[in-house]
Amino acid sequence: MANPSLLILAGDGIGPEVMDEVKRIIGWFGDKRGVAFDVSEDLVGGAAYDAHGVPLHDDTMAKAQEVDAVLLGAVGGPKYDDLDFSVKPERGLLRLRKEMDLFANLRPAQCFDALADFSSLKRDIVSGLDIMIVRELTSGVYFGEPRGIHMEENMRVGVNTQRYTEAEIERGARAAFELAMKRDKRLCSMEKANVMESGILWRDVVTEVHADYPEVELSHMYADNGAMQLVRAPKQFDVIYTDNLFGDILSDCAAMLTGSLGMLPSASLGVPMENGRPKAMYEPVHGSAPDIAGQGKANPIACILSFAMALRYSFDLGAEADRLEAAIEKVLADGARTGDLMGPEGGTPLSTTQMGDAILGALDASL
Ligand code: NAD
Repeated sequence: MANPSLLILAGDGIGPEVMDEVKRIIGWFGDKRGVAFDVSEDLVGGAAYDAHGVPLHDDTMAKAQEVDAVLLGAVGGPKYDDLDFSVKPERGLLRLRKEMDLFANLRPAQCFDALADFSSLKRDIVSGLDIMIVRELTSGVYFGEPRGIHMEENMRVGVNTQRYTEAEIERGARAAFELAMKRDKRLCSMEKANVMESGILWRDVVTEVHADYPEVELSHMYADNGAMQLVRAPKQFDVIYTDNLFGDILSDCAAMLTGSLGMLPSASLGVPMENGRPKAMYEPVHGSAPDIAGQGKANPIACILSFAMALRYSFDLGAEADRLEAAIEKVLADGARTGDLMGPEGGTPLSTTQMGDAILGALDASL
């Protein structure tokens, strides 16, 4: 049987630097664990614009549709800030999400014990935190029509429309329930059913889907209370399912519970392909970090954890994902730190490659 296929789109700035470490990790799993992938690489963002005049070439888009999973680094940078909106690096990313129809955005917020003091919250509130936010990514107020700015009685009026079909709510809910089944079997759905009709429908549909997942404990919460609870007692949650707008805000809020942007992975999943795997793209939450690009300072862990998510959610290799996450936990516990993870006590930060070396060493030790 052919190996599963991965398309690497490293992108701009620190994207290629952190992706180099992921490639070494992928190589390790092939050599040491017999988990081999057919890896191809292509351009996205500013790098694609420089080569082709567009942030994503049609051929790259076609490849992304065919592979089992896409791994993306980061896009953007000051060089491209003045480009026309239609060819900005971010448009490459948005095109991938849209044309692959990646409707479920998974944003884990996991607090490694060794980094608990980096959180703006107290150690005991975040230590051991492990939650997953599932954000609906392709509908809601960011896409709803009518939208725009028009004149009414000599005054400008800005309009956006929150619109959800029951099918859109349902497919995201199923993704969230499936995830909950693989975790602690608890799902909290967040909306504003007290003031929004789309919220009432959201609550109804999630409740209907629950009938197919009786083992999962379902709760509902208004999204504003959810924001409060996330900073008050985040460990009460396992999986959270929410819409595009609330998910945008709540997932950034949850992300910061864990300290550094250099630690945060994400996955965006779509409908299953013929082989049963969902269309999928995995990427770190951080951007291209132009301020440190090219200096070997970037923390590769967010990108490596994104690959761990690919192992778990695209390839059903949960035990190998556990192995990789445990290796990262181990090097952090042993004191390995890139510059973004340096505390006030100081010390010498590891380079991107040295952090990769440390993780590979911990993986070797896990055999
Ligand atoms: P950013 O995430 O690139 O950087 C924010 C800060 O965090 C910077 O100080 C950076 O040095 C630091 N940082 C980020 N990732 C790090 C890592 N792995 N290791 C160590 N430090 C890290 O956000 P920004 O500065 O607002 O944006 C820079 C560019 O990236 C812009 O062009 C923006 O449009 C783009 N961007 C892209 C994505 C993406 O590709 N998904 C996401 C956000 C921003």
